[in-house]
Amino acid sequence: MSQNNSNDDTQYEKVCSVCRRTESVAGKMIQLQQDFYICNDCLQKSFDMINNMTENGQLDELTKMMQNVPLTGMPEKPSTSDKEEGEEKKDDSEKKDEKEKKKKDSQQTPLFLNLGSIFGGQNPNLERTRIKKKERKEGDPPLIDIKKVPAPHKIKAMLDEYVIGQERAKKIISVAVYNHYKRVATQTMDEIEIEKSNILMLGPTGCGKTYLVKTLAKLLDVPLAIADATSLTEAGYIGDDIESVLSKLLMAADNDVDRAENGIVFVDEIDKLAKKQNTNSRDVSGEAVQQGMLKLLEGADIEVPVGATSKNAMVPLTTINTRNILFICGGAFPDLEEIIKARLSKQASIGFNGELKDKYDKEKNILNKVTVEDVKKFGMIPEFVGRLPILCPLESLTEDMLVEILKEPKNAILKQYQKLLELDEVDLRFDDSAYRAIAKKATERDTGARALRAIIEEFMLDIMYEIPKDENIGTVTITGDYIEGKGGPVVEIRTGESPKKKKADEAKPEKESEQEKEKEE
Ligand code: ADP
Repeated sequence: MSQNNSNDDTQYEKVCSVCRRTESVAGKMIQLQQDFYICNDCLQKSFDMINNMTENGQLDELTKMMQNVPLTGMPEKPSTSDKEEGEEKKDDSEKKDEKEKKKKDSQQTPLFLNLGSIFGGQNPNLERTRIKKKERKEGDPPLIDIKKVPAPHKIKAMLDEYVIGQERAKKIISVAVYNHYKRVATQTMDEIEIEKSNILMLGPTGCGKTYLVKTLAKLLDVPLAIADATSLTEAGYIGDDIESVLSKLLMAADNDVDRAENGIVFVDEIDKLAKKQNTNSRDVSGEAVQQGMLKLLEGADIEVPVGATSKNAMVPLTTINTRNILFICGGAFPDLEEIIKARLSKQASIGFNGELKDKYDKEKNILNKVTVEDVKKFGMIPEFVGRLPILCPLESLTEDMLVEILKEPKNAILKQYQKLLELDEVDLRFDDSAYRAIAKKATERDTGARALRAIIEEFMLDIMYEIPKDENIGTVTITGDYIEGKGGPVVEIRTGESPKKKKADEAKPEKESEQEKEKEE
């Protein structure tokens, strides 16, 4: 920007004040102040970070941070030539005034931030910004009140309203969650410390693992973070660090560390972390992540970036203790059934009942017989399985269960469509054959209840498009034939007036009376 030190420019290469790379390495520099250069990369980086923080609503934190960072003032020119010295003597008093003015200006006008210190590493004296825990006073109500934690049968009853089937899983989870929060509420129990009851859920895709956890968190009103194990990598590799899971939890708790420390973390696709067999390369996304998760599962103080999923020096940090966080890991464990079958048949063939060998081939919910040994054999490391003491197998959904999922839950998809059409005063009905046909189609797709939504959306598109066209339609009945593409829906014309006409009629008298008034005037 300023041109006056062109002599210096020719003698020395410019150095970026942030990354300390020279111009020959980092490319052309931009001069912000007299001795302050910044390379294009660092400038872009700082803009990106500020943008990011603004988008995340973290402007306040950024401002706070700025207050902690020393501003880089314009350094005084170190030496002046003899000529200038002479001049200085002449206008000594004038210069003094000027100096003072400069000093004042430097206090008032915002100077450039010492970006180097923000990016970290440049100024060792500076501490990174930390978010402190909210202080809770003695009189404040406890975050988890033991009396308010519902008993297991109540938790299950609440889950029953939303989640179909999975009776055993719901029971296991209700008890585990109840015990977990009892443990949290009582902190320590004399010498007997209650062990953490992290849960490992096993069940085919679309059987309701995520749904169960989501419903649970909603009912208990605790923050929930859902992470995908496949995106996690060992720290330092491309992908999300394991701690990013806790950042998500903190976000879900509106940055309230105490609430986050009592939350639930669900790590999906955990089976993808199984040890890879016969590989020589470093397994940064599998076994290493299992290792990395150990301390999280057990309970440790973890430094977590606030408002971002990666730790860069621009992001403030906070410490979260994971001792009271309930970890639920879930996965489909595709080949686990074979391992269980092999173990069971081995046991069978050792005894006298060798004929049972292929008995297990026909059993559908073989996962119910899972043991810790099977999970270890699958490729989960023993320490990891040890920290998830509760095994919770889920059943694959049968056609009958799918029919129930369509009909029963409080927020069933079909109920949502009915509600939408109700607003147009159209009665949407499904006959039993329709439920059956949808469930049958979904079973063929083999993705559990996930297929339901896709199938329903396919046929509902036409209905939602066509019905509002004709105001006289009063009732639409979806039949099994329509789902199978053999016929159309049964449409009945309404007997009374159409709602739109009614509204128009209601609006009329008012208009007429207004016109009459106008006439009278
Ligand atoms: P996954 O087991 O693969 O995590 P999800 O829990 O994501 O499967 O299930 C997908 C969707 O299917 C859920 O959003 C939910 O609407 C529905 N669903 C699955 N299982 C059930 C169930 N047992 N009861 C009610 N709805 C279910």
